[in-house]
Amino acid sequence: MGMRALRWHGRGDLRLDEVEEPGPPGPGQAVVEVAYSGICGTDLHEFRHGPNLIRTGPHPLTGHEPPVTLGHEFSGRVTALGSPVPGIDVGTRVVVDPCLRCGVCRWCRHGEYHICAKGGSVGLAADGAFAPYVTVPVEGLVRIPDAVPDDLAALAEPLAVGLHAVRRGTVQPGDNVLILGAGPIGIAALFAAKLAGAAGVHVSEPVHARAERAARLGASEVFDPTSADVRREVFLRTGRVGPDVVIEATGLPSLVELAVTTVRRGGRVVLAGISGGAASLPITQIVPFERTVIGSLGYNYDIPRVLDLIAEKRFDPGALHTGTYPLSEGLAAFAELDADRGAHLKILLTPKEL
Ligand SMILES: [Zn+2]
Ligand SMILES: [Zn+2]
Repeated sequence: MGMRALRWHGRGDLRLDEVEEPGPPGPGQAVVEVAYSGICGTDLHEFRHGPNLIRTGPHPLTGHEPPVTLGHEFSGRVTALGSPVPGIDVGTRVVVDPCLRCGVCRWCRHGEYHICAKGGSVGLAADGAFAPYVTVPVEGLVRIPDAVPDDLAALAEPLAVGLHAVRRGTVQPGDNVLILGAGPIGIAALFAAKLAGAAGVHVSEPVHARAERAARLGASEVFDPTSADVRREVFLRTGRVGPDVVIEATGLPSLVELAVTTVRRGGRVVLAGISGGAASLPITQIVPFERTVIGSLGYNYDIPRVLDLIAEKRFDPGALHTGTYPLSEGLAAFAELDADRGAHLKILLTPKEL
């Protein structure tokens, strides 16, 4: 049987291709029928500027090379299991932690599968979920709590990126936090920081509609960095101390220095955005003030936590979801995300509908 898949062939070259449906899963694999599949900033970046995370040759872990079906933020239903998994059967609704891992390297054996020496992601290093069916490793399967509908469940992956960044920054009750950027990662970090008990969560965001959304979703105050001196404004609002934690959620190299010079003495800067650029860091702003700079990549056992938080209605994840399109309009959805950064955070595709 054939199916349609939105595949990356190269920079600027996404195609809706006719491909084979996945065969029966091998040992350690499962097939998932996709309900909703979100378009990530990473997907946009691979389309416009890639290859960045996509390897043009065979991936060291999967052996896969382009063209590759994108899509790593998804929910669906298990249709076949190649190995038994406790608590999961054919028909179980699942989200998939898309981190591919070798299982035997130093990092996998220490529970840090997300920084596996050979690691990759479903939808980048193997075919992903911009298709009606996707084959995944069984260790990535996460059961969706009954209280969480499929569309909200598909948001668990991007929300987990924000939760992981807040955990990496060890945000404590009463802390003041500054988040740079109110895109999907920034908003996810805003939710997570508030849940962690942060007293003040300030946000810097130049796109007006995104700034308004952040304010609506509970930011203490939102500053436009093109007109305000963000460092000074946050300094004044934190008793002339500065925020305990700054989370950089854009990947813009120019913001790294702002993050480092804005965080309080002894504070922590979490870099959660990715880009290929280099940032310049003033050593005299780090060493004499004992500031800590921390990288945060994706998530590490954070997706089940997010699903439980959604099930308990601890925040409104639906605020992230700004549009739904069938797979056949996937290319148009990519264009729309690019064209109107204010209107959109997360567009979900429904691959079963053509
Ligand atoms: Zn993503
Ligand atoms: Zn590994």
